[in-house]
Amino acid sequence: ASSSPFLNPSARSRPGDLAIVLLARDSYQPITLEQSTGVVDGYVEGKVLNTRFGSFPHSTFLDVPWGSQIRASHVDTGSRGRKRKLEASGEDTSIPGADDETKDSEAGNQLTRKAASAPSGFVHILKPSPELWTSALPHRTQVVYTPDYSYILSRIRARPGTRIIEAGAGSGSFTHASVRAVYNGLPQKPEDKKGKVFSFEFNEDRYHKMQDEIFEHKLADMVHLTHRDVYGEGFLVEGKSPEATAIFLDLPAPWKALKHISRRRPQKDGETPKPDNGDWISPLDPKKSVHICTFSPCIEQVMRTVTELRRLGWVDVDMVEVAHKRINVLREKVGLNLPNKKGCNLTPANVMESIDRLKVINEKTKDFNNAQKEKDGDAMAVDPSDSGKANGREEEDEKPWAQGRVVHRPEGELKTHTSYLVFAVLPREWSEEDEAAASAKWPCGK
Ligand code: SAM
Repeated sequence: ASSSPFLNPSARSRPGDLAIVLLARDSYQPITLEQSTGVVDGYVEGKVLNTRFGSFPHSTFLDVPWGSQIRASHVDTGSRGRKRKLEASGEDTSIPGADDETKDSEAGNQLTRKAASAPSGFVHILKPSPELWTSALPHRTQVVYTPDYSYILSRIRARPGTRIIEAGAGSGSFTHASVRAVYNGLPQKPEDKKGKVFSFEFNEDRYHKMQDEIFEHKLADMVHLTHRDVYGEGFLVEGKSPEATAIFLDLPAPWKALKHISRRRPQKDGETPKPDNGDWISPLDPKKSVHICTFSPCIEQVMRTVTELRRLGWVDVDMVEVAHKRINVLREKVGLNLPNKKGCNLTPANVMESIDRLKVINEKTKDFNNAQKEKDGDAMAVDPSDSGKANGREEEDEKPWAQGRVVHRPEGELKTHTSYLVFAVLPREWSEEDEAAASAKWPCGK
C-alpha cells in the first residue's frame, strides 16, 4: 500500500507529514511538520508557524489526531542571548507573529518558550486530501476545482486500476484528485495496482515544481510526469504506450493534441485516417473504449475541439458546464414580534405594513449575515471554551429553536463560469479475430 499522506494517512500527525492548517473559513496553510531539534536552556528549538491567530511551534502539531484544535503558544525568539548572537551574525531577528502574514518560519532555528502562556487563538490541523490541497496549493496557473474535477472523473470513468493521461499538469490540482481516483490506497484486486496518472507539462519551471511536489507527497509510484509539448510530441512515455482509457486535457488548444490520442498514426488536418503499417504506437489501451474530457473557457475553443473529435472518429460528443453553488443553511429571526417604525408589533394587515415588514426583515437579515461573517472571521481568535458568551448572546438564545427559523440561501460571491467540459468516447476497434473470439465465447443462435 502507498505511504502517501493523500492515500494512506497515519492516524496521528508525525514529523515529515504534510498537514493542512485551517486558519479560518476558506483559509488554509499547507506545512510539512518538523520535529523540534531539542531543548536549550528551557527553550524548545524548532520551526514555528506564525499566523494572525498566534504562533504555533511545529512541536504543538505533532502526535495529535488529525482534526485537532491547536492553541497558540507564547513564542519568544530568544530575545536575550540568542537574539544578541543572531544580531552579531547579521541574521534576521524579527519576532515571529509580529507581522500579520501567515509564515512558516524558514529559519528553523528560532527559540520558543517551552511553557506556553495564555493563548491568543487557535487553528485546526487537518489531514491532507485532494480537496484541501486544491484549496491550499500554491497557484502557478488557473486550477481545476473540486466541483468540476469530481464530475470529470466520474464521466471519464476513473476508478482503481484506470490509466489516465493528463495535460497540462499546471499546479497539480487535477493530478492529486485523479491519483486518488485511480489508486485508492488499498487495492482490492491485482489489476487495481495498474492505476496510474501520466501527466505532461510544457513549462519547465512548473514541471520542476510539480515534480518536487510529487516526491514530497510520496506519489511518484502513481504519477509519471513528463516535460513535453504534447501538441508536437504526443503522449508516449519513454517510447512506450501508457495504455490509457481516460484522458483529461486542460490546454489552451486541446484540438492540437487530439491527433496523438488516436488508434492510428496521426494524419494531417483534412486527411482521413489511413490503416497503419504497424510501426506507430498508440497511447491508448487497444482493448477498451477511451473516455476523454477537455476543459476550455470559451465556446470558440469548444467548437474547434468538437470538430476535431468528430473528424477523428470520437462518438457521444457532448458539452457540460458545471454551475456550482454553495448554499448556506442558517437560522434567521423572521416574523418574531418585529417592531415597526411606530414601535407597534407588525401584522401583515395591509400592503404598506407588509412593505414595512419586509424592510425590517431585510435589515435584520443584513445584520444577521454581518454578525455571522464576523463570527466566522473572529472564531479563530476567541477562546473556544467561552464561545457562547463571547458573542454576547443570552443563555436562552443558545437554544436552536430560539435562534430563528432555518433558512438557506446561496452565497453572494458565486464563481459562475469556470470552463466548458467537452466529453467524448472513442470506441475500441473490432477485428475479424475479435469477432471470432467473441462468437466462440458467446455462441449466439447455436
Ligand atoms: N489542470 C491543471 C490544474 O488543475 O492545476 C491546470 C492546467 S493549466 C490551466 C494549463 C497548463 O498547460 C499550463 O501549466 C501550461 O504550461 C500547460 N501547457 C500549455 N501548452 C502545453 C503543451 N503544448 N504541452 C504541455 N503542456 C502545455
